[in-house]
Amino acid sequence: MSHTLRDPYEEAKKQLKESIEILGLTDEVYEILAAPERLIRVRIPVKMDDGSVKVFTGWRSQHNSALGPYKGGVRYHPDVHEHEVIALSMWMTWKNSLAQLPYGGGKGGIKVDPHKLSPGELERLSRKYFELISKVVGIDEDIPAPDVYTNPQTMAWYMDEYSRLKGFHAFGVVTGKPLLLGGLYTRIISTGHGTAVAAAEAAKKIFGGVEGRTVSIQGFGNAGQYAALSLKEMGAIIVAVSDSRGGVYNPKGIDVEKLIKIKRETGSVLNYEDAEKFSSKDPLYVDADILVPAALENQITAENADKIKAKIIAEAANGPTTPDGEEILTKKGIVVIPDILANAGGVIVSHIEWVNNRMGGWLKEEEVKARLEEKMTHNFHAVWDFWQNKLDTEKYNMRAAAYALAVKRVYDAMKLRGWI
Ligand code: NAD
Repeated sequence: MSHTLRDPYEEAKKQLKESIEILGLTDEVYEILAAPERLIRVRIPVKMDDGSVKVFTGWRSQHNSALGPYKGGVRYHPDVHEHEVIALSMWMTWKNSLAQLPYGGGKGGIKVDPHKLSPGELERLSRKYFELISKVVGIDEDIPAPDVYTNPQTMAWYMDEYSRLKGFHAFGVVTGKPLLLGGLYTRIISTGHGTAVAAAEAAKKIFGGVEGRTVSIQGFGNAGQYAALSLKEMGAIIVAVSDSRGGVYNPKGIDVEKLIKIKRETGSVLNYEDAEKFSSKDPLYVDADILVPAALENQITAENADKIKAKIIAEAANGPTTPDGEEILTKKGIVVIPDILANAGGVIVSHIEWVNNRMGGWLKEEEVKARLEEKMTHNFHAVWDFWQNKLDTEKYNMRAAAYALAVKRVYDAMKLRGWI
């Protein structure tokens, strides 16, 4: 995340404080929600291929469980630190609450550069981490999933290790698993497709529809590719796309299927011929109706927010807009569909995977996609209506509305449970 620029935990607490103020709640509520219910730090000894032993540090932060078992990914990254994991677990509480899932928020991390480990070392690291947290995770306790540099294979190791320890087949203890072990195909398209559905709903509000509207996309990995594909299928025109090496621009439209093929075969969008070439950041500034940041955090800042021409920004990436950047966007009247709403497709399909595992694998993929669309649409309107009808829209933007609504649901659940 963005800890080089700002401490994510401080930022998460600031956002929580604003939501508490908007909702007129007491300091006690802030006290409960400003820190995780449980935070565990583990030391993970791993026997390396050369016979030596290396010890890695890992965390699992379980932020709040008022709405249900904790849910959230595990990331493997050399820069992972405790504050980052705590902040991400808090954001998962809000994301799950906003998506109306029966989950609280959790997040895990291991401080490691996974690219420096052999497959065997990575497997031993993953199994030992899961063994060390096995007392606090579980199908009805805490359900991890993939995040940065973890994937379906990691989840298969976690699930197998947990099943071995507990003596039964615990498919539902993690989501984002391989298809053969209870995963869902729709999980692959879920984030990008979900972002496209949210962007299309916003386009209906702002332009009367998404058809014929122009779209610019920064980042062309999993989220960016499926957002592009879905928006094109909905009738939008994709005019600009970039990856880490550079970007392509054609105001008449880019052939998305062809671009995906080129990206997969050659490693970069720059090998697409029928377009003008420009830099990785340029999609942010082109003349397009909708902008989808789908790369990294901190892309839209106080330095460049003024150059943005889009009327709608659908945040597929986590944290692409800094708070001071967003102030400028808000003043310009640009609607930002915040990440916790716009990129919730992944966790929505994770929930369906978990339900399906508990039913012994009953659902059809078509049902999964339809449910994802229905939920994204519903969630978009819930936030939009709360924003427009319950808040002063001059004072608060859509992100503030999303956080406040998410916090409100968690507060209501805590009250019903008798915690406060
Ligand atoms: P990915 O690794 O598949 O793709 C990232 C893409 O961004 C790549 O095409 C890369 O070339 C590009 N990129 C990197 N630096 C760039 C730069 N400076 N300018 C332009 N492009 C750049 O990752 P992903 O899974 O698509 O995730 C992208 C973002 O979406 C991240 O912020 C991630 O946290 C967020 N997200 C993803 C999911 C998911 O399910 N995939 C879910 C929620 C949030």
